[in-house]
Amino acid sequence: MEVAATVAEMRALRRAMAGDVGLVPTMGYLHEGHLSLVRTARRRDDHVVVSIFVNPTQFGPGEDFERYPRDPERDLALLRRERVDAVLLPSVEELYPEGDSTFVEVAGITEVLEGVHRPGHFRGVTTVVAKLFHIVQPRRAYFGRKDAQQLLVIRKLVRDLHFDVEVVAMPTVREPDGLAMSSRNAYLSPREREAALVLSRALRGAGELFAAGERDGERLRASMRDVIAQEPLAQVDYVSVADGETLRELDRLEGPALASLAVRIGAVRLIDNVTLE
Ligand code: AMP
Repeated sequence: MEVAATVAEMRALRRAMAGDVGLVPTMGYLHEGHLSLVRTARRRDDHVVVSIFVNPTQFGPGEDFERYPRDPERDLALLRRERVDAVLLPSVEELYPEGDSTFVEVAGITEVLEGVHRPGHFRGVTTVVAKLFHIVQPRRAYFGRKDAQQLLVIRKLVRDLHFDVEVVAMPTVREPDGLAMSSRNAYLSPREREAALVLSRALRGAGELFAAGERDGERLRASMRDVIAQEPLAQVDYVSVADGETLRELDRLEGPALASLAVRIGAVRLIDNVTLE
């Protein structure tokens, strides 16, 4: 496994790769969710490239950029075991050259849900993903449904800017008790870890109501708010039942819908979602 710290090194490695290249972009502190993406890329593509980069432009002021968990040595050991071909592990200065002033912005679907609570977040995501696509030139790129809105935003980016990249969506990997895996789970105290189960519990409740025939968007949202209200450590950022494509809030569910939420457990902000169809 090769490790590239610079764009030039990554480009040289890429030029030596024949066949399809699969890219898995990450912020590191890898868990089984990330590794499920890597394993699928390993099966489908001739070469697998993983990027590890805590991208400062997708964090707002006062968010957790500085304290975001990092352990590159452990990450590299995990990726070596998955027989990854190359890891791009650049510095901030390498990806954002001094004096840079170019950003990539997707309008519309970035203005709801996460976009309301994290202004500028998706501009940071789409800018860094566009850079990674240019540098690595993958045939496919793998993203988790855990970040459902991000997935829609990336699909739009690829379509609008004609990137020749197939976006592959992968299911959310969960802990045995239902908590969606996330690097940010490392912040949780044991008591908060228990409280964090309200996210998956609320979504499961909505899923059960939907399966029993409930099609009223507001009643589904209210059911999730009720579950979260029972947990004193939890505070809702948003609870949503929206169209699975446009992310517009639904009064009545007719096609596939996305139930999603963002909840603060103490100082830790967690997101999760399920598709209702
Ligand atoms: P991150 O390192 O959090 O930026 O995540 C990198 C990629 O892994 C993104 O495409 C995420 O959606 C995906 N991912 C994160 N957590 C999970 C999970 N629990 N299951 C599946 N994919 C995930």
